[in-house]
Amino acid sequence: MDYTALYPFTVQCSRCDRAWSFSEDELQSVDLTCQDPDCGYTFNVYEGLKTGLKTVDGIFGNTFLANGMHNLMIDVKIGFTTYFKLPQSTMKVYDVMLIPVRDSFKAGVVDITTDGFLIYTSLEESGDTTLFGKTTPLYVIVKSKIIDYDLPWLHLLQYSLDQFIQKNYLTCILLSEITFENFLDTMLRHRYINIGLDEDTVGRILVSTNLPNKVNPLFYNMYGIKLSDSPYWKKWEKKVLKWRNDIAHGAKTSATEDEARFAYETIIDSMFYLIEGIDNYLRANGEPRGLFYKI
Ligand SMILES: [Zn+2]
Repeated sequence: MDYTALYPFTVQCSRCDRAWSFSEDELQSVDLTCQDPDCGYTFNVYEGLKTGLKTVDGIFGNTFLANGMHNLMIDVKIGFTTYFKLPQSTMKVYDVMLIPVRDSFKAGVVDITTDGFLIYTSLEESGDTTLFGKTTPLYVIVKSKIIDYDLPWLHLLQYSLDQFIQKNYLTCILLSEITFENFLDTMLRHRYINIGLDEDTVGRILVSTNLPNKVNPLFYNMYGIKLSDSPYWKKWEKKVLKWRNDIAHGAKTSATEDEARFAYETIIDSMFYLIEGIDNYLRANGEPRGLFYKI
């Protein structure tokens, strides 16, 4: 089985839409050059990550958090089932793609677990009946989680995107905002513990501070950056945060696709604005970068 370990993000070129998996080297560089030699567009790594995360319908749109990819050519018998076994290290399966290589037939999967899944094959409507029972190659691509980064905001962002794709727009808005709140507390907690505050004090600061104060003075004190200096501040404070409160308190009972997309994209823009600021601050102080920070 051909297995590739990936970072759980896709970077994407906004000029030609070419997308690829984020690598260790790219984590260290600020400017990326598009992998399409005919494009050659150079863009900031944070822009590339944001474009990748906002692409919800592309073939690579949902690879973040899926940090393992299996590519394998297997033989299946048309009209019969085949069990595909996954490696023991598999924690979650995000996506399975089946591509018939030689013959024209239908293939699908059921019973997906971390152990594996069952592949069903059948003839197409008015297909060639002589193909029934024939052994033929099928290309299988599995996107899965192999490494757990232990960062709840990464999981929450994935769930938010899942809810958007499933058209649960109210839940998407709530989960987008909760992702952001978890991200803020994770980053602040990390810094407070690093400078020597104890868990009890950190807990009290985070519980008793409202969100606008977290993203502005507290972030500024710890990382020299505040959301209110960005174009995302008003979008977040006037809409996403308000919607979240209205949903939580029962005043907002439905949401549109545009509202959910607005919330999801505003949270991504806001988080990566802060991540870029954190990275700049830490780099200036000789510390490693912050994208996968945890305590
Ligand atoms: Zn490009």
